[in-house]
Amino acid sequence: MIYADNAATTKMSGASINAMLRCMEKNWGNPSSLYGLGQRAKEALESAREQIAVCIGASSREITFTSGGSEADNQAIRSAALLGARKGKRHIISTAFEHHAVLHTLKKLEAEGFQVELLPVGALGSVTARQVEEAIREDTALVSIMYANNEIGSVLPISEIGAVCRERGVLFHTDAVQAAGHLPIDVGAQNIDMLSLSAHKFHGPKGIGALYARRGIPLANLIEGGAQERGRRAGTENVPAIAGMAAALENACAHMEENAAKVAVLRDLLIAGLSRIPHSALNGDPINRLPGSVSFCFEGIEGESLLLLLDDRGICASSGSACTSGSLDPSHVLLAIGRPHEVAHGSLRLSLCEDNTEADVDAILKAVPEVVGYLRNISPLWKDKVSGKKEFIL
Ligand SMILES: *Cc1c(COP(=O)(O)O)cnc(C)c1O
Repeated sequence: MIYADNAATTKMSGASINAMLRCMEKNWGNPSSLYGLGQRAKEALESAREQIAVCIGASSREITFTSGGSEADNQAIRSAALLGARKGKRHIISTAFEHHAVLHTLKKLEAEGFQVELLPVGALGSVTARQVEEAIREDTALVSIMYANNEIGSVLPISEIGAVCRERGVLFHTDAVQAAGHLPIDVGAQNIDMLSLSAHKFHGPKGIGALYARRGIPLANLIEGGAQERGRRAGTENVPAIAGMAAALENACAHMEENAAKVAVLRDLLIAGLSRIPHSALNGDPINRLPGSVSFCFEGIEGESLLLLLDDRGICASSGSACTSGSLDPSHVLLAIGRPHEVAHGSLRLSLCEDNTEADVDAILKAVPEVVGYLRNISPLWKDKVSGKKEFIL
């Protein structure tokens, strides 16, 4: 099997599994309990918090554990909105191609009286700090812009955007779920006020994440109950998963440069090979892109059929985000970069990690053109295009 869907989730690293097992066997107490067993769990919890903080240049008190990236996004945005509303600020800036955890939270806030401005992301899928600067108003409560896009792999100029927000005194949140463990993060140097992480995107376990919030930014808790996480997130902490996340992030950050260099070579081979398929187009920024991300549109095919046929050949890929697959709507990300509906339906996302090999790339580059060719051959629409009855788009 060739696993090329690391943007959807990753295989846990040995370091992460070992840290979890150790925790489940030895530190299974409740970290809120006062006896030794509980206190040892508490120590494991706090040392994981410290490890994660170090990886992003934060201090441990600025890290709150959540159930994943989605919850971190929800909590960051809700907290900033609440804070803004208290000062009469109800304007929020974001982009049209954020993850649904951000977009759907913003939709809800809109219904609650906030004004949400989604910046256009252009054909390459990015925004400039200038765009952000021009959108900021007196009543802007928050700028929430992702570090890297999960579908098309574009990496956004987060440091520049952070600098603009800091200068204008506006809170800046970034969904760094696709970036963490893959791209350098330094919340201080990059002027990031809030940042979302998810363990299962960097070879950690699923169902655990973290929200960084700069000291002094009060977080509104989404879950009421006990006083865990200093009152910001009730519920007994998932200590094993938290330990697994810390080990995974530490491991990913320790090998970030070598992994990125290796994976980027494979990515570029894939991009070069797939570009040779006629009537195809690379999605996302060709230069500023995640080391492992390859996204294409192929005219005249259905992405779903392509995925099923690739699965038959042992290749795990995606048509866009895992969250939208299963629905027939084309990806909001591909529509945001201007792909027409018809073309957006024929998308393929391959997301690699350091476990992939050149042999994987060779197999993918053999399979995809064959499957695309097969699907085009059985498509009446494609026949119309070839015969000139209909125009090609790509
Ligand atoms: C996966 C992902 C999320 C959601 O994280 P979960 O831990 O699965 O809730 C949020 N944002 C981006 C960019 C993602 O890729």
